[in-house]
Amino acid sequence: MAGYDIVIVGGAIVGSAVAYYLRAEGFSGSIALVEKDPQFTYSATTLSLASIRQQFSIPENIRLSTFTLGLFRRLKQEFGDDADITFRETGYLILAGEAGLPILMANHAVQIAEGGNIVVEDAQALKQRFPWISDEGIVAGALGLSGEGSFDAHALLTLFRKALKTKNVDFITADVTGIERQGNRVSAVLLGSGESLEAGTVVDAAGPAAGKVAALAGLALPVEPRKRNVFVFEAREKIDDLPLTVDPSGVYVRREGSVYITGGAEAEATDGPADPGDFEPDWPLFEEAIWPVLATRIPAFEAIKATRAWAGHYDYNTLDQNGVIGPHPEVSNFLFANGFSGHGLQQAPAVGRAIAELITHGGYRTIDCSAFGYERIAAGRPFRELNVI
Ligand SMILES: Cc1cc2nc3c(=O)[nH]c(=O)nc-3n(C[C@H](O)[C@H](O)[C@H](O)COP(=O)(O)OP(=O)(O)OC[C@H]3O[C@@H](n4cnc5c(N)ncnc54)[C@H](O)[C@@H]3O)c2cc1C
Repeated sequence: MAGYDIVIVGGAIVGSAVAYYLRAEGFSGSIALVEKDPQFTYSATTLSLASIRQQFSIPENIRLSTFTLGLFRRLKQEFGDDADITFRETGYLILAGEAGLPILMANHAVQIAEGGNIVVEDAQALKQRFPWISDEGIVAGALGLSGEGSFDAHALLTLFRKALKTKNVDFITADVTGIERQGNRVSAVLLGSGESLEAGTVVDAAGPAAGKVAALAGLALPVEPRKRNVFVFEAREKIDDLPLTVDPSGVYVRREGSVYITGGAEAEATDGPADPGDFEPDWPLFEEAIWPVLATRIPAFEAIKATRAWAGHYDYNTLDQNGVIGPHPEVSNFLFANGFSGHGLQQAPAVGRAIAELITHGGYRTIDCSAFGYERIAAGRPFRELNVI
């Protein structure tokens, strides 16, 4: 049986970032990165909207994204002169009606205290800034002036994976089908091939499948796949200064080159666990739920047609839509890096760093992630993020 000090289950952005920062922190033990889908065809990372923001409701989430923003700013120093993830700093514009205004203002105060470059403008000022917007039902909007926008998720993942090739990390293509425990320790990871890997520590980086992987070790984690549909459309009129705009209904839209991408129409009332194999877009959502909102909010989008669509799965934490980071309190050599519920891509570098600090130094050094610990899950005590897009 092969043996590793660290076995990371899931090799997409979170798993790769954990391995990368373990080496950056000076961890010299052996590391296996186990991934069943090495092309990442179905990973949340590559099916995401690939955007980063500071507009969260709790400081800890802002700090995680700000760490990643710092990495984007010094990408070439970190990964070499060729490194490019086409980061476009076009901002987020989060719109609020009367009912949403107090939350928008409270969030803004938190963001400013964390150093976010975000302004809140009333409907009139927004119309002046963005003449293409309709202020029907809108009283204000929060706009990120810098540090927010979109990037190429696949390129970011490739940078991490390429860097790992020279860092003595074993890439193993396999499906993890079992995890052995001896009392309060995990001891081995079983692979679909029938082989097993002895493990000093197991890190769960399985994204939407994280709950399933935790269950293999007999641990309960309220993270499940939730299907999210993204539609691509074209419009005759080009809106060059379109930020990632989020309507109070939850529908969002952003520019992607010469086309636009939109989503956010899944109804809360019917939202539930997805079939892990279902990646078929729910086309009626575009006509029935998205188009009416877009046509109202941005009249230039009245005559649009969806040309393409895809569906991915959120790594959805049903307790509080927030990350679960760190060890299981009793099975302390099983570590969670899960449940980011739509904001895990932008947080992955920071989370990778946090997990690496825990393993290497026995505690957090860069960002204190204790608030994301499993203890709140065990106690059923939500640590809720309000800005889930
Ligand atoms: C439509 C959509 C839009 C999104 N938009 C954004 C956004 O704009 N910004 C943002 O920050 N986040 C966004 N997210 C969320 C983000 O994509 C995820 O939070 C993040 O990618 C999670 O990374 P991960 O590495 O944990 O999971 P994944 O990328 O899903 O990777 C998990 C990996 O684990 C592997 N795996 C699972 N089970 C096993 C097993 N048993 N054995 C071996 N391997 C296994 C899988 O094959 C997979 O490659 C979005 C998600 C979706 C679906």
